[in-house]
Amino acid sequence: MTRERTPSSKMMKSANQQKVLHLIFSEGPISRVELAEKSGLTQQTVTNIVNRLLQDDIVKEGEPAESPVGRKRVPLTVNASSLYAIGIEVAGKYIRGALHNFHYHRLGRAERRIQKLQDGSHALELIQSVIDELLEQAPDPERLKGIGLSVQGLVDSGQGVVLRPPGLGWTPLSLRKPLESRYGLPVYTENDVNLLSLYENMNGCLAGSSNNITLKFDWGIGGAIMADNRLITGSTFVAGEFGHYKSFSGEDLYTCHCGAAGCLTTLASISGLSSNLGMSLEAFEADCFSEDPSYREIFNKVQDAIRLAVGNLITFLNPDHVMITGRYMEAFSDTLVPDLFSSIPSLVPETCRNVNLIHLREMPEETELAVGLVIKHMFDPVLQVRLHS
Ligand SMILES: [Zn+2]
Repeated sequence: MTRERTPSSKMMKSANQQKVLHLIFSEGPISRVELAEKSGLTQQTVTNIVNRLLQDDIVKEGEPAESPVGRKRVPLTVNASSLYAIGIEVAGKYIRGALHNFHYHRLGRAERRIQKLQDGSHALELIQSVIDELLEQAPDPERLKGIGLSVQGLVDSGQGVVLRPPGLGWTPLSLRKPLESRYGLPVYTENDVNLLSLYENMNGCLAGSSNNITLKFDWGIGGAIMADNRLITGSTFVAGEFGHYKSFSGEDLYTCHCGAAGCLTTLASISGLSSNLGMSLEAFEADCFSEDPSYREIFNKVQDAIRLAVGNLITFLNPDHVMITGRYMEAFSDTLVPDLFSSIPSLVPETCRNVNLIHLREMPEETELAVGLVIKHMFDPVLQVRLHS
């Protein structure tokens, strides 16, 4: 089967150029000599590639440094302040966008608030109007390298299709094709938790880790699995649906929106508390520590369920880090989080106890995460090869 060529594939660089670009991004400042050593390419090939990248203003030269032997070495870095990307957050009640440079400095923003998305074309129309407004704020549209979209819900990131858009149920919403043909820029779409994982693995508290899990307890529950520095998407792009682990039974058995019952998300997420107990996170938090023991009892069951689910996950996947985050965890940061951290060693085999648990208290803005997706695609040789092969 031949794949249709898209504007993003037109931007495909040769594998060698991608290798060099990746090294400058991840290890810069770096000299041409070091680039040749680390890439295994000849000096001449490196020089040709670097000249092209300098001409396109994608990399820049710094002050030459003294070298112990031979000529002075000129350090090369990515010209991050003059490369831009647009990040869009698609939520049920708003579409928010921001224009950032590759240092993540925000240069503009735009937002459309709505009562409810009516259908796919309504969503697309709003997204385009946010992008159009941001394009007007771009200092130099030529330097815009792509559009990233963060969407809560299930996303087929390979095809750029949202399988279950927020508030629209199971109505697939194709974003990449229409947006790439309208703007002539690469467009990347990803689920919000996968994006958070990519961002933290690239810049944040998971940098340096190769095998890790991100768990977000928020409106819903989402998970992302990074194995050998690759995001595991699963055969139908829904890997990491940790919220549907079966965790409750008996009087705590509630039907889940997935069609099953007893899923972790039915009590361990904000939407679950609202649907099944008819209360907000704040009210639940207050009642758990009140005189009334009934809520404390539910809280204890939730705590046990999270503990077991995370323990089983660690036993199964043997990650070096597990990062937990989200408003639900934040509300119980003095109780649930320390309990989880202290109990994990007794729940996993000795061989898995090297795992480090991290509580990420403040998440970056979704638009920033979406920009990170564009940056990741531009400089990651593995992703480039996978996307355009
Ligand atoms: Zn479920």
